[in-house]
Amino acid sequence: MIVAGLDIGGTKTLAVIVGEHGDVLATTRLATQSGDPSIVVEHAVATLDALAEAAGIEVGHLAAVGVGLPGIVDTLRGEVRHAVNLGIDGLPAPLGRAVHDATGIPTIVVNDVDAAAVGAAALLGGSQPDLAYLSIGTGVAAGLVLDGRLRRGSSGAAGEIGHIVIDPTGPPCPCGQRGCLEALVSGPAIARRWPAPVGQPVATHLVSAAVAGDETATSVLAEVGGHLASAVQLLGLAFDPRRIVLGGGVVEAGEPLADAVRTALAARARTVPLLGELDLAERIVVLPSDAAPGATGAAMLARSGLDATAAAP
Ligand SMILES: [Zn+2]
Repeated sequence: MIVAGLDIGGTKTLAVIVGEHGDVLATTRLATQSGDPSIVVEHAVATLDALAEAAGIEVGHLAAVGVGLPGIVDTLRGEVRHAVNLGIDGLPAPLGRAVHDATGIPTIVVNDVDAAAVGAAALLGGSQPDLAYLSIGTGVAAGLVLDGRLRRGSSGAAGEIGHIVIDPTGPPCPCGQRGCLEALVSGPAIARRWPAPVGQPVATHLVSAAVAGDETATSVLAEVGGHLASAVQLLGLAFDPRRIVLGGGVVEAGEPLADAVRTALAARARTVPLLGELDLAERIVVLPSDAAPGATGAAMLARSGLDATAAAP
């Protein structure tokens, strides 16, 4: 049984076909087409066509498809709302049923960060995965796979730590508070402190400048590392996961960014015995840059049917 997973982000879409044993058989990367729910559905269908072509199969051979989206997702109903970066807001959009109707393939829709947590657990291997996946991109949120199970919370909001206030005197956040984690470390938040040339990923530009010795870049990077260390500390103290995976667009800046987080955590561990015992710096993992945890996890959730909550009628 082969299944497909799509990770539809605000700017790019990654898609994979996963085989019987979790092996990735084909990968496709496309620019995201969005603006309203019908465009997103057309985009999902076009992505599946391109993916099937890359794998040399017919779309109809796929047993199921999982679609990961950045928004509030009701997997049971196959509905998405508040996916603002895709032009979906207001009424819930029944994307699961629409993709199923267009392709004939059983389809589930899932939150993209939840999918990435499941995908990261699969990519890291081992039995009984136990991790928090901290996604740092346009938004900031965590996905939780604890004791081998995806944990979404009673209302699906588990891990929405981007709106925990880290600095009450910090910059305003669209949510109405000040100094939310997201207002301090998201890609747009970093860009306010370190404007990168148009077309260049801001965190990568910041890290390059810091590595080259720019003092302002070095201080902004240390500050971002400190705020991310607070996020890791929060996840560590709340859930005590075996691993804390850093992912999302900002983390494409690579190891220097992860090192800034480890440095801040190590400094706290030296002065706070509790944190010294937890050794959170050692739990941090960055996946290889060619890994596609969101698409892989969406495919795996499609295969599992998410406890029979598939959106297909
Ligand atoms: Zn906020």
